Formats: sequence, C-alpha cells, structure tokens
Amino acid sequence: MTRVIYVNGQYRPYDAAFIHAEDRGFQFADAVYEVCEVRDGRIVDETRHLERLARSLGELMIRRPMSQGAWQIVIRETIRRNRVSNGIVYIQVSRGAAPRDFLFPDAHTQPTVVCLARPTSRPAGARAAAAGIGVTTERDPRWNRCDIKTVMLLPASLAKERAGAAGAKEVWFTDSDGFVTEGGSSNAWIVTANDELVTTPVSNAILKGVTRTTVLDVAEREGLRLVERQFTPDEAATAREAFITSASNLVMPVTQIDGRTIGEGQPGPVAGRLLREFHEVAELAD
Ligand code: PMP
Repeated sequence: MTRVIYVNGQYRPYDAAFIHAEDRGFQFADAVYEVCEVRDGRIVDETRHLERLARSLGELMIRRPMSQGAWQIVIRETIRRNRVSNGIVYIQVSRGAAPRDFLFPDAHTQPTVVCLARPTSRPAGARAAAAGIGVTTERDPRWNRCDIKTVMLLPASLAKERAGAAGAKEVWFTDSDGFVTEGGSSNAWIVTANDELVTTPVSNAILKGVTRTTVLDVAEREGLRLVERQFTPDEAATAREAFITSASNLVMPVTQIDGRTIGEGQPGPVAGRLLREFHEVAELAD
C-alpha cells in the first residue's frame, strides 16, 4: 500500500511529500510537533495533544494554521488513507518557508503543516513492556525551554545514540543539581520503597507529557500515593520500580539505570497496573 502524507492541504504519496528548501523548520528548527497513539482506530488523548500543540505554537508565536476541528479532520483522514488501526499519528507545524533570516518572516507567511500516520506492532510493544528497558544518565544538554515540544531534537537524538551504544533504550537527563529531569523522549518515574509514586514536577526543564498527565489521572483513580518531586539517579537505582511514559511507549518499565539493577530487575507491579488501566482512563476519540 502507498503511504500518504498530508502536506499543506494535500495528501501526497510518500515519495512526493515535499516541503520547501527554505522552510524554517529545516533551517532553524523553528517548528513544533505532536505524536498521538492510534489504538483500534481511535485517537488516544487527542484533546490534550491538540491543546499542547496550540500552547507550543503560542509560545513560539507561530500562527495557528487551522482550527481544532480542522486538525481532527486532517488527523482522521491521514489515519484512514494509511489504513492505520494501531500505530501513531505525527503532526508538525513550522513557521513556514521564507528567505533565510534570523528574524521572523512576515506575519502572513503560511505555516508549513505535515501530518503522517504509521502502524506499529502492539504485540512487539507488549513484549518490550514485559521485558523492560535499561536507561543511562547524562547531564541534560538541551535548552531551557524543554516545556515547548519543538523539533529541536538533535541533543536528544545524540544522547539516545549514546544510550543505545551503551546497550540502553533511553537516556535520563540530569540537571545541574544532579536531579533527573526527564528522558530523551519520555517522562521519568520511580516507585519508592514506601510505595510513593514519584515523577518530576512540571517546569521549563521538562515536557509536560500527555501520557504523564493521563497516568497521574490513572494513579489517582487507583488510589496510589502520588508525589511530584525531584529524584536522583541514585534514588532511582535503589527504588522499588522505575518506568518511563510517552505516547509511543505508554508505560515502559525500567529495570536498569547505568547498569545498576532496579528492584528485582523485572518490570514491577505498579508499572504493570498503570499500563493495564491506561486506556480505561485516556480519552479515546473516534
Ligand atoms: N519528554 C520528551 C522530551 C518527549 O520527547 C516526550 C515524547 N515526545 C515526552 C516527554 C512524553 O510526552 P507524551 O507523553 O506527550 O508523548
């Protein structure tokens, strides 16, 4: 089947889905994006993802290219044309194409909009969650507005490459005081020996993950003891459990940090419970 990508109002075959060479997303990373899970043909937490997209655009003063209703139509049509029932849908908006200049182009410049969808394997995701992953840690190399979901992903890409070379699947960044901020493309969590569920508080240092927000809802519904506070890699290494959250990994257990075994070295019960309950609580939009 030919994959189709929405580019600036048109659904194009994959090999013909082009944007301009002077697009500011390409030249300045002047662009934001979103990734939503697609599950059984439904869009998971679409409202929260579209709200965060609107916020990211606002923070960068990029004009909103379309209404929330129009986004919903583009997302559904992209999923439909690619026949994705389980996978992800990705949207990206840049400030548009304009002669290269550090200063913003004319306010009438049309933002560039891309939407694509691709299938992922649910059994493979379940197998990965049953095994758990290792993480490495390193000093956060990114800028001080990690709360905006920009495509400026090179520091995270390099760090994830380093993690991969060390045999890990994710990197956890640490701040100048040695506290964990978040993962390269996920939020970070631990479960302490006294059964507190801990995740880093929202600040400019982390992206407020939609999965994080929904997992907090799940934890509240389940009556778990929640604390939003900072923690160190040492505390994580001696925790009962650890896990990451993101739209593409959902709740993924972490069994090793910098080669140190966490808990029993197996995915823990709290992560398992949060994963099982996740779609009971998340918004599932048709
Ligand atoms: N932090 C970073 C840096 C990320 O890239 C992501 C995923 N894009 C997340 C957290 C998790 O966000 P979400 O749950 O909305 O996917």
